[in-house]
Amino acid sequence: MKFISTRGEAPAVDFIDVLLGGTAPDGGLYMPEEWPNWPPPDGREFSVYPYAALALDLLREFVGDTFDAEELREDVEGAYATFDIDSVVPTVDLGGGRFLLELFHGPTFAFKDIALQLLGRLTARALEKRKARATVIVATSGDTGSAAIAAFRSRPNVDIVVLHPKDRVSEVQRRQMTTVLDGNVHNVALEGSFDDTQSIVKALFADTEFAARTRLTAVNSINLVRILAQAVYYDWQDWDVSIPSEGAYVVPTGNFGDVFAGEAMARMHGMANTLVVATNANDILARALKTGLYEPGPVHHTLSPSMDIQVASNFERALFEAAGRDSMWLSSAMAQFARDRRLFIPPHVLHALRRRYIAAGASDDETIAAIARVHRETGRTIDPHTATGFAVAEKLKDQLEGQMVFLATAHPAKFPEAIAKAGLPPPPIPPQLKNIMDAPERFTVLPNDASRVRQFILERTGLS
Ligand SMILES: *Cc1c(COP(=O)(O)O)cnc(C)c1O
Repeated sequence: MKFISTRGEAPAVDFIDVLLGGTAPDGGLYMPEEWPNWPPPDGREFSVYPYAALALDLLREFVGDTFDAEELREDVEGAYATFDIDSVVPTVDLGGGRFLLELFHGPTFAFKDIALQLLGRLTARALEKRKARATVIVATSGDTGSAAIAAFRSRPNVDIVVLHPKDRVSEVQRRQMTTVLDGNVHNVALEGSFDDTQSIVKALFADTEFAARTRLTAVNSINLVRILAQAVYYDWQDWDVSIPSEGAYVVPTGNFGDVFAGEAMARMHGMANTLVVATNANDILARALKTGLYEPGPVHHTLSPSMDIQVASNFERALFEAAGRDSMWLSSAMAQFARDRRLFIPPHVLHALRRRYIAAGASDDETIAAIARVHRETGRTIDPHTATGFAVAEKLKDQLEGQMVFLATAHPAKFPEAIAKAGLPPPPIPPQLKNIMDAPERFTVLPNDASRVRQFILERTGLS
């Protein structure tokens, strides 16, 4: 399998380049040259597979000869062995045609572990093959940073630099990052917003001399390998609970990576599920799907910080597909967006998007009400990100029919403030989270300035 850029002006590359590279040289995002048919028509019975086996089979469709079968098996099985539950992604039947897909049983209690535990292993292996070192850089609104640190700490040949917006992640989220003291882990608290951290990462990649010198590598959800790993659970059937194939997936959305993984599986599978894009008050996607104008506003800080995002990088992938892979149009539209901070989605593209996605935003009050309501109806405590999904599904219920699968993206114990606001007792804290609350922290505060971040990385990686 080869991979192409959404903007159509970069050469096609192999899996290893997608794994180790960031954006394509033309500024676009990598996509498979074509989506394979899934499941392959050879009679394998996927519904009774363990999760790691399903993931392994799907990834084989993409890796080509980058890794042999044994290497891939070792990394996929190693990644999912770190989860605290055998089924990896347990499914809970909430009754009334509603299901909860629990994606938070990995080492950092957020769904990002599902992709990053795998990516960490594959990246280290690819670097070993190339006899190279790399600097992984991550902009995080909360959960990606800790999941990336858990995936890369102690791995040889890798430094990991994580930029989080100072004072804008929860205390638990910050401590999950800053209490990891391994020498290859470098935490930066940036004086800015999440979008600022993303802009700095983009600027560092655009500095090709610097990017080459540090071998800069992205593991943000613009990395296609993450999306492929996440596509797996849209085809996952737990042993005990069988999810019907009709209906909707409700996806708490920030950077559009997770929900686009749903589109990826739908394209491979020929599924016709609706994908519900649930946002918080940062509702650019909901507005774009309603009006056809994609235009970021100011970033609102909410109870679901991992979704406090205005520019959803992976939306470019959905635009690319909805436009019938018209990269000429997409590159001029993205150039216009870079210039004017607005993008007009033409009617035929908008129409294609609306056939797959419906979207709405939930305010913090609606999110708190949803936490309380779900607890009343099911006895379960859900985290504020997951709760935006329930709040949005309630708003859109006239447009939704059939079964609904709610993606549960974080463990509620990570967000005690929101749970308290819903009038519920604090959820039991897993021991791994308890231990970090009084462990020593290490991080560096830096101004919102790419050149200062560049200098910091050169110093820390010994390249200055
Ligand atoms: C990252 C994250 C999201 C948003 O996922 P995207 O792929 O960025 O849309 C939702 N919930 C939680 C808990 C997250 O960490």
